Amino acid sequence: MSDIPITEKLLLNAGGWQAMKPARELLKSGRVSETKYEPPLLSGYVREGAKNYRSGLRIKSAIDVENLCSCWESRSAGKICAHSVAVGLGYLNPPAATVAASNEPTMPEAPGSTVRRS
Ligand SMILES: [Zn+2]
Repeated sequence: MSDIPITEKLLLNAGGWQAMKPARELLKSGRVSETKYEPPLLSGYVREGAKNYRSGLRIKSAIDVENLCSCWESRSAGKICAHSVAVGLGYLNPPAATVAASNEPTMPEAPGSTVRRS
């Protein structure tokens, strides 16, 4: 059994546009945190108002994705909600600060700063 790579296409297939659109907004406004993917389990937190949803997906295959979000929408309708899609997007597009802190601690390189090197 091989791990399923998370892609935007997978997330879009799972949640559809009605989940993908608000998910992008959630990510853009910095609501998504602690995303991680330990196949088949994608998990993270999504803050909405005063609530912090424990959210995520169990990705059994590219077309068999189970929602693990704790929100009412997900539990009542049984569909993939925007929170879980947002966690997926957050995993694919980690905040720049996190990437810089964890992956490149010794490379103080800013775009444009090397242009005049000669
Ligand atoms: Zn949810």
